[in-house]
Amino acid sequence: MRFTRVFAAALIGLLVATGAAAQSTVASPRIYIFDNGGISGLDPSLFNFTRDELEEVDFVDVSYLIVHPRGTLMFDSGGIPDSAFAGHDGPVTEGVMSASKPLAPQLESAGYTPADVDYFALSHYHSDHTGNANDFAGATWIVQKAERDFMFGAPEGIVAPDTFAALRTARTKVLDNEDFDVFGDGTVVVMSAPGHTPGHQVLAVRLANAGTVVLGGDLYHYPEERATGRTPTFEYDAEQSRESRARIEKFLAATGGTLWIEHDRATHAALPKAPAYID
Ligand SMILES: [Zn+2]
Repeated sequence: MRFTRVFAAALIGLLVATGAAAQSTVASPRIYIFDNGGISGLDPSLFNFTRDELEEVDFVDVSYLIVHPRGTLMFDSGGIPDSAFAGHDGPVTEGVMSASKPLAPQLESAGYTPADVDYFALSHYHSDHTGNANDFAGATWIVQKAERDFMFGAPEGIVAPDTFAALRTARTKVLDNEDFDVFGDGTVVVMSAPGHTPGHQVLAVRLANAGTVVLGGDLYHYPEERATGRTPTFEYDAEQSRESRARIEKFLAATGGTLWIEHDRATHAALPKAPAYID
C-alpha cells in the first residue's frame, strides 16, 4: 500500500515534470507580440510636446510573451480586460483606450494559455498595461518592491487596482531596485528603470537572430522623447527617469541592442504579431 502511494506520487511528479517540459521545446528565446489596441485622443502637452513636434500622437498598446528553453515570461497585459469583450461583437472602447480583440485568443494562437506562463512582469502599474494582469496570478510575479508597495498601498493616478488585485497573493519575486536574470543564462533580464513609476522596469532579451532587444515599457512614449530628452508631465520622478534612460541607453550602446518603445506605432507596425514571432 505504502509502496503504491509512493509510486503514485513519483508518477504524478514525473507527469508534472513532463508537462512543464512540453512548453520548453524552443532552442533559443523568441518574442511573441500581441495587439491590445491603442490609445487615442491624448493631449501632447501631457508629454511636454506640441502637436507639430510629434510624428504620431496616438499610442499602440501591446504585450509580449517571451518563450525561453527553460520557461515562459509574459511582459505587460494590455489595457482592456478580456472580460470586456464578453457578449460583444467587435471593438471595445474604454475612455481613451480601445481594442479590437482580446488577449487570450492571441496567446492561444501562439500555443499558450495564461496557465502555461511561468513568470509575469509588468513594465509598470499604469492601467494601459495591467488590463489582464489577474489572469497571470498563477505565474511567479517579478516586481520591484517600490512598485508593489505603491500598487497595494493607496494607489492613485492612472491605475485600475481591480485589474491586478489577484497579484497580491501570487508567488512573487520581489526586487529591490535591481535587475533579475530570469532564466539564469543572461538572455532574458528584467532591468530596473524607475522614474515613470517608482518601480518601472524594462526587459532585455538576447535573441539568436535579431540580437538584443529591449522592451522599453514607458521609459519613453514617443521617439521624440528619446531625441529631445523631454519627460512627460506626470512622471513619478523625472530626474530618476533621466537616470534610468541614461543607464538603458548605455546598455543599448554596449550591446548594439534595439529599443522597442512599447507605445510607438511605427515600431510595432514594422514587427510581426502572434502567432508569428521574432527570435
Ligand atoms: Zn503606458
